[in-house]
Amino acid sequence: MKIDQIILTHVRIPLTEPFKISNGEITEKDAILVGVHSEGLIGYGESSPMSGSFYSEETPESAWDCLVGELIPRFLQSHPAGIVDVNNLMSPIPGNAFAKAGIETAFWDLAAQQENVPLSKYLGGKRSQVESGLAVGIFPSIKELLLSIEKHLIEGYKRVKIKIQPGWDVKPLAEVRCMFGSIQLMVDANCAYTREDLPHLRSLDDFDLMMIEQPLPKDDLEGHARLRAMSRTPICLDESAKDIPTVQRAIELKSCDIINIKIQRVGGLLNAKRMNDVCAQARVSVWGGTMPELGIGGVQTLHLSTLANFSYPTDVESSKRWFVDDIIDPFIEVHDGVITLPEGKGNGYSLNTRAIERYKVREQQFR
Ligand SMILES: [Mg+2]
Repeated sequence: MKIDQIILTHVRIPLTEPFKISNGEITEKDAILVGVHSEGLIGYGESSPMSGSFYSEETPESAWDCLVGELIPRFLQSHPAGIVDVNNLMSPIPGNAFAKAGIETAFWDLAAQQENVPLSKYLGGKRSQVESGLAVGIFPSIKELLLSIEKHLIEGYKRVKIKIQPGWDVKPLAEVRCMFGSIQLMVDANCAYTREDLPHLRSLDDFDLMMIEQPLPKDDLEGHARLRAMSRTPICLDESAKDIPTVQRAIELKSCDIINIKIQRVGGLLNAKRMNDVCAQARVSVWGGTMPELGIGGVQTLHLSTLANFSYPTDVESSKRWFVDDIIDPFIEVHDGVITLPEGKGNGYSLNTRAIERYKVREQQFR
């Protein structure tokens, strides 16, 4: 892959509503668009940490610095032969998974375009449609939570995930069950509980949840195994599943039934695909989670979620659900709970240059 030019564009787009989880709140979405130019084609990736301490240690600023100072110089000095080479070039740099995902996924888009196939097919996926789940944050009141779910269910989502934390779990769940009956329901605690809460977490069995995601701190695989042994609700790991050795250990310890694979958190599509292979072999189901990312990051998760073991398969939602605008054209749309992937090669979406110009924070070109 001959690299002619790489362009970084940092954009910041307001959210349609504040997004609050157990460890932070955001009102704007930052993302770094990575464009890799090669012999007349451009592959796009997105490095997408949230600002502040929301979800990850990486921030838009740290990802930008890593891309500019560490990753891009490596790619300008050598021409990787393929995706494995791309990953090998980055592997001496520790951490920085979100920064690596930004550039690695651009190479996947480029490679799929060179092969003239959609990214989903290049990854080995068989489906052209992906079922989408609705995710909602923590609200100041249960009434606002119920109104938000009701408003967004109009798009046909068949499944709802609500964020929980100590003091915001049993009551909102009871009200959601009361208002929406037997809808497929799951919860995500983003590490908010401790082992002292295990009996309380077991009481969530009463709500017939599809899964409880990451109830305990990310390093506490044993604690998750204890909860799994004592409760009926399937356990999903998200923040814990940072790399393949950790997932293998979680499987050995029987810490989880399900893994939420996030392309950003694992540093790109090759790692995501390999993590899925490990899970599939151990008969652990996976799904493709979002934080959410803007359109390019979201679309990559959609393509990944066409793989067979993605049983749930994603909570990438419509562009308009979270963002006042998006960097892709057309926007991601959900119809009757389903997103249909485009048939074009690579990501299959064009860039929305109007939105990128409007919401641009900074841009830099590298040759
Ligand atoms: Mg999660």
